[in-house]
Amino acid sequence: MNVPYFLRLLCLCLASFFVVNAFAGLGAALASRAAVRMAATMRARTAALFLFVVRLLPFALGIGVVLVLCVPSYLWLEPQATAERVGWACLTLGLLGALGLLLSFARTARAVAASARCNRLWQKAGSEIRLAGEPSQTVIVDEEGPLLALAGVFRPQLVVSNGVLRALSADELKVALQHENAHRVSRDNLKRLFLLLAPGPIPFLASFSSLDRSWAKFSEWAADDEAAARDPLRGLSLAAALLRVARMGAGPRLNSLHASLVAGDDDLSARVDRLLRVQPAGPVPPPRARGRAFGVGLGIAACLAILLGWPPILSSVHRLLELFVH
Ligand SMILES: [Zn+2]
Repeated sequence: MNVPYFLRLLCLCLASFFVVNAFAGLGAALASRAAVRMAATMRARTAALFLFVVRLLPFALGIGVVLVLCVPSYLWLEPQATAERVGWACLTLGLLGALGLLLSFARTARAVAASARCNRLWQKAGSEIRLAGEPSQTVIVDEEGPLLALAGVFRPQLVVSNGVLRALSADELKVALQHENAHRVSRDNLKRLFLLLAPGPIPFLASFSSLDRSWAKFSEWAADDEAAARDPLRGLSLAAALLRVARMGAGPRLNSLHASLVAGDDDLSARVDRLLRVQPAGPVPPPRARGRAFGVGLGIAACLAILLGWPPILSSVHRLLELFVH
């Protein structure tokens, strides 16, 4: 099929993205059980970060290969012919790549719109006040249901119902708000957006559900740990707050871009159990300055090696793409 220069580049980019994302994504999906087992041996915050990286790596590799290798090698080495042939294999892979990206963009757009609609309603119906000890305004919604959540992706805001304010004691409320603030500091709602945005390896095949569930679990555990701050009394207050909010029954339906205090009953007993076993803080280990310096040195060496080998890398990539296109 004869197609103009830039359409050919677009097809090549989508096809390359699909191939890299599919291979790396299937690898990540196959390794997900081992990754979750490995995460279980780490601190909750490290485990959440590790699973987030495993989940996002195929998408990042796909985008990286397109931006760093495909586009520069094509623009630099491909003659500006008016029309060139594109093989059916490349066209099919390009269409699959476009389909995967469109599906994940549509899913993300739906979630962003639903979250924005929900936040607007809460802001309209509720009142903004600054609760004691809170760095920013909290939206108080006149509702009896169990609502205590962090809403919004880029400028997240705490939303609490009057029912929760009445049900929790001052200590329980304070530590519950600290749990939500831990989600804010680690930008968990933004991470949720990236998880929605990154397509699976094959369109319509849910390959990452176990990684997504485990990431959500460890990010809840991490926020619990940061709110409890290795203080057994705070752990106890947070466990009591979780149980009280869970006993209030079903709350308003939150979407995947909201971080709620009690996201579901599945993990509730494990969270309460962990909080009841919070140990007092021990001595703080010294920072690992030598390891960090070694990492920085390794990064600089890798960048230099890539810069020196750049022209031969691009021409090899171009030869590979020529084979791929025809
Ligand atoms: Zn939470």
